[in-house]
Amino acid sequence: MNCPVCGSEYYEILKSKGKHSKELLLKCEECGNIYREVIIREKPVDVRIIISEFESSKKEFIKLYPDEELEVDDILDIGGREVAINSIENKRGGRVGKSVVSDIVTIWASSMDIPARVGISVDFGGRILSNKVDVDRDFEFHVGDVVKLGNLLFKINSIKTIERKVRKGFAKASVAKRVYGKPLERGERHNYDLSSKIVQKIQKEE
Ligand SMILES: [Zn+2]
Repeated sequence: MNCPVCGSEYYEILKSKGKHSKELLLKCEECGNIYREVIIREKPVDVRIIISEFESSKKEFIKLYPDEELEVDDILDIGGREVAINSIENKRGGRVGKSVVSDIVTIWASSMDIPARVGISVDFGGRILSNKVDVDRDFEFHVGDVVKLGNLLFKINSIKTIERKVRKGFAKASVAKRVYGKPLERGERHNYDLSSKIVQKIQKEE
């Protein structure tokens, strides 16, 4: 962009509006002339996106601008539904933390509209009681938490997440796959009650 008066390419942006085509109000740094420029972005392209919801996932396409940069944890809108980017696969064949749209092969995302489903396993000396709960994606499980679940009371001793096993600290429900606990005597005070969040009935696994 050059100043129409003096031809200088140095300018200050006074105003910028529009998302996909930008209307700029510029001030020339050489002569002070104020002028407008419109930048038209390239047409949006279809990008493959795999959205996971609970145990299943589905493939869709989303229209994005080729020069747009996406990053893990960005929120995308798919027909009114919000999804969060978990991972991006680009043309060099690997998973990357961020990429411009034109280099993206697949976006891996999970739905924000639905709660996170987390497994719970409580170990009664080798006999495991398993459960699943649906909790808010932001819900935090902390190692050491005392949890009430139906008529079961247990203490969290570890959490398996997508990437690692947490033995100290906490994990958000959005990344927690399974919470492991040890049973406690009834009567102890609990930090929270997940009874209303149970998805399936307690079942025995030998
Ligand atoms: Zn100028």
